[in-house]
Amino acid sequence: METTKFLLDEKAMPESWYNLVPDLPFGLDPPLNPATREPVEPDALAPIFPTNIIEQEVSAEKSIPIPEEVREIYSLWRPPPLFRARRLEKLLDTPAHIFYKYEGVSPSGSHKPNTAVPQAFYNREEEVRRLTTETGAGQWGSSLAFACGVMGLECTVYMVRVSYDQKPYRRVMMQTYGADVHASPTNLTDAGLNVLEKDPDSPGSLGIAISEAVEDAVKHDDAKYSLGSVLNHVLLHQTVIGQEAVEQMEMAGEYPDVVVGCAGGGSNFGGIAFPFLGEKMKKNRDTRFIAAEPTSCPTLTKGKFVYDFGDTAGTTPLMKMYTLGHSFVPPGIHAGGLRYHGDSPILSALVHEGHVEARAYPQNSTFEAGLEFAKVEGIIPAPEVTHAIKAVKDLVVEAREAGEKKTILFNMCGHGHFDLAAYEKYLAGELPDIEHSEAEIERALAEVSG
Ligand SMILES: *Cc1c(COP(=O)(O)O)cnc(C)c1O
Repeated sequence: METTKFLLDEKAMPESWYNLVPDLPFGLDPPLNPATREPVEPDALAPIFPTNIIEQEVSAEKSIPIPEEVREIYSLWRPPPLFRARRLEKLLDTPAHIFYKYEGVSPSGSHKPNTAVPQAFYNREEEVRRLTTETGAGQWGSSLAFACGVMGLECTVYMVRVSYDQKPYRRVMMQTYGADVHASPTNLTDAGLNVLEKDPDSPGSLGIAISEAVEDAVKHDDAKYSLGSVLNHVLLHQTVIGQEAVEQMEMAGEYPDVVVGCAGGGSNFGGIAFPFLGEKMKKNRDTRFIAAEPTSCPTLTKGKFVYDFGDTAGTTPLMKMYTLGHSFVPPGIHAGGLRYHGDSPILSALVHEGHVEARAYPQNSTFEAGLEFAKVEGIIPAPEVTHAIKAVKDLVVEAREAGEKKTILFNMCGHGHFDLAAYEKYLAGELPDIEHSEAEIERALAEVSG
């Protein structure tokens, strides 16, 4: 029997996170204070983040040790397997070798607990009693609820009203882990009250929910705020994925020619890609990196690389990143995790400097790829991941046309068990292919000042 599953021992779990920043061949533009346009002093973040997290956000250390207690909790599901998708290779009739790292074995079913657990840990170390956050479809909220549960912290989640009403199971999951979940906009914050005054039936948005969660943290001394993607420390925590994958590819006796991941805020992509990018920069390998996103929210492929706010309300520092404009409202596609107007500043700079390629796909083509994958490999992918699978399918075709035999690795960053309503729509032929609106992007980008 041929090996399809590459398993690491618990003891082989990484002892530190890998920071790509000091290995980058270019500098990163710092976050700016919107009022002064001067670089933000790390202290300014103290009302919302604990000291350790702020240090990691701006760290120039290549390697940051993972606290023993965090490794112990990681060991509940880490290190997850690396699979060779032999049946998918057969289905695609390709000489290419396709590998995937499966993060869906975590308690919440995605890569997000990799950062939720250390974030809850560092907050508890600094005697924070409660964490606040926002969630759209619920992947991040349920990961932070789990992490707060194991660290003995309280957790308050502002969940976008439409998701709260339409996707009850993620909400019940958060409540099961002990979190307080509010349908946002609420009447508990000024940000929420402002919206409700104008529109009592507001369906909410991620931007509004972020404003509510930040306000709650700023107004309460014993509470801080937690973010599930985009920021440097989040991508740092996710590098456990790629470090393990480097070892597992070695077990398989291969090295990837291409590393693929879907990109919403960039954290699962950075998690798998950064350790391989580090090797590429140090050892001069010619690995390619591809980030896959939806055509309805084409941040990396159609956005501009400029300073913009991280949230819709314009309350965060300005970050240099690819953005569609902070007031861009992505259409309601089913890959909720990929509906963000901006992207990680590190990933954005890598795309801008030509180290990472970006591709965009409409949702019907990605669901088609997702179903093919599910039928032969068994795992039903999260709608976000189907973008990576579609990219892999295209790469296989391109390699065939070029007469090349490729080794492809992608990040299977979550399962789709809570997203079956989306699969139901696809199977019924009722999923619209929503293109981005050029006019809407132009309008939103025009609002971004220089
Ligand atoms: C949150 C999420 C994403 C998008 O976030 P990234 O930071 O880009 O990884 C993608 N896939 C899944 C399964 C998610 O839960």
